[in-house]
Amino acid sequence: MSWDIAGLANAATAKLRAYDPGHDLPALRHQHGERLIELGSNETSLGASPAVAAAITAALPDIYRYPDPKGGALKCALAAHLAVEPAQIALGNGSHELLMLLAQCFADAKTSVVYSQYGFAVFSIATAAAGAQAVCVPALPADHPSAPLGHDLDAMAAAVRPDTRLLYVANPNNPTGTWFDDAALDRFLQRLPAHLVVVVDEAYAEYVTTPGTGSAVRLLRNGGRQQPNLIVTRTFSKAYALAGLRVGYAVGSVGAIAVVERLRESFNVNSLALVAAEAALADVAHAQRIRDHTAIEREWLADRLRALGLRVFPSQTNFLLVDFGREAGEIETQLFRHAVVVRPMAGYGLPTCLRISIGTRAESERLLEALA
Ligand SMILES: *Cc1c(COP(=O)(O)O)cnc(C)c1O
Repeated sequence: MSWDIAGLANAATAKLRAYDPGHDLPALRHQHGERLIELGSNETSLGASPAVAAAITAALPDIYRYPDPKGGALKCALAAHLAVEPAQIALGNGSHELLMLLAQCFADAKTSVVYSQYGFAVFSIATAAAGAQAVCVPALPADHPSAPLGHDLDAMAAAVRPDTRLLYVANPNNPTGTWFDDAALDRFLQRLPAHLVVVVDEAYAEYVTTPGTGSAVRLLRNGGRQQPNLIVTRTFSKAYALAGLRVGYAVGSVGAIAVVERLRESFNVNSLALVAAEAALADVAHAQRIRDHTAIEREWLADRLRALGLRVFPSQTNFLLVDFGREAGEIETQLFRHAVVVRPMAGYGLPTCLRISIGTRAESERLLEALA
């Protein structure tokens, strides 16, 4: 008997490939120790609030119990922080899980999903996993004055079809670092029909310093009745420095979140992650330090890279997209030999670019030395 297990995968899964994690970071840490400079995953080099370790220690004796399936305490803290109702929040094992879940809830093989070229990679994976048709809209041109390679919101609105049930935008976007302001979002939402759910992925919202560019959560006050088809996803992985614990959340109208809750696995966020996220949210001073540090170091590193003659795209995130003007794979390999890890962009169709996270000043200096 010959087995064809892969042939048993359903139509959607048959077209997918397993996530490629790139370099084996645990092995590299073992090999290089302190010398390794990790600027490939947009983590926060300053680390989490000290209050997180204390909260986890206090919760440890209870890990034999299942976590709170509702995440009630964290939802209440988030609701107060965002000025929405707790019933407007769904928690996820990272916002990645929620982005996947949203496609499972609202898209299927009879529908289409709209997102942008150079949009976050998970958008296409979630679409494929739901078996839906992808409508990938060309990005803004590379010479656009404010958002080169960014989302073309007019083209995206025009690409919505009668069978479209979901649209993903990231603001700011990864890997381009580009963003759009509140007025642009308002105009965009007004142009969209009511038969689709609009997901605004705000993984980097905390890092935005440009005036007039706030969170789309402002449109979800009062139960979200004003914009019931809008869902905003946020994460504790980036500005709250909890990437290893996997906590994200979605904010939407009460009705939209109730749909997500039907498919959410009951214990998807573990008990240590729940208390850690609550502690991180409460340490307002630490969160502010991370934002201030990132804003200063972002400008410092961008200036240095531009001084080397490189094109640095504008960014409101904790990373920079850098165009080397030639195939960047070789440069990435050279940096890697100097124990500096950055993210190659060939998989996104940007083979001359690298994405570089904002680290500490010492880490940025090591990067610049290696580049020189
Ligand atoms: C990092 C990232 C996320 C997901 O982060 P989680 O760790 O899964 O919460 C979502 N969207 C974008 C654009 C990101 O860069």
